[in-house]
Order: sequence, then C-alpha cells, then structure tokens
Amino acid sequence: MDIAAERIERLHELARAAATEGNHDRARYYVRLARRVAERNRLTLPREFRRFTCDRCDTYLRPGQNARVRLRDGHVVVTCDCGAHARYPYESNTA
Ligand SMILES: [Zn+2]
Repeated sequence: MDIAAERIERLHELARAAATEGNHDRARYYVRLARRVAERNRLTLPREFRRFTCDRCDTYLRPGQNARVRLRDGHVVVTCDCGAHARYPYESNTA
C-alpha cells in the first residue's frame, strides 16, 4: 500500500471516529481531505469510504444518526440529512 492510500485509510478512520462522537464538522473536514488526497494521486477511494460519505455534502454517514438506510428492489438506498440519495446494489459485505 503506498503512502497516499495509507493516508486515505487514516483519514477515513479519523472521519469515522469524529462522526461517532457526533463531531460532524470535523468528520466532513477529514472526508474532504481524503477526497483531495485521492484526487491528487489518481486513486479510487475505498468502497467503504464511498458508501459512508455523502457525495453532495461530504458528511460521514452514520445510519440512524445522520442518514437513513432502506432496502428497496434489491438496492440499498442511503439518504443523507442534506437530502441526497445514494443507491447501491444489495450485496453481502465480503469484499
Ligand atoms: Zn449530504
């Protein structure tokens, strides 16, 4: 794993920890930093990172706290508090 990828992983952990503590502004800051690192290094963000961040407002999503998760027609639909929806095919968490 290269340094940029490690940095993204670290920022992801920090974002998750901040969101867990209810510190959403700080979590958003880490999410934005991680996106910038990925962009600058032409890296794809890890799937878990993409699943748990809002594309519109960069919030780190905590289902039940600042995001709603519904299953519909074989998809997982995540709705952020800002109103943005994200849909993913339903699958097990193996990868
Ligand atoms: Zn949002």
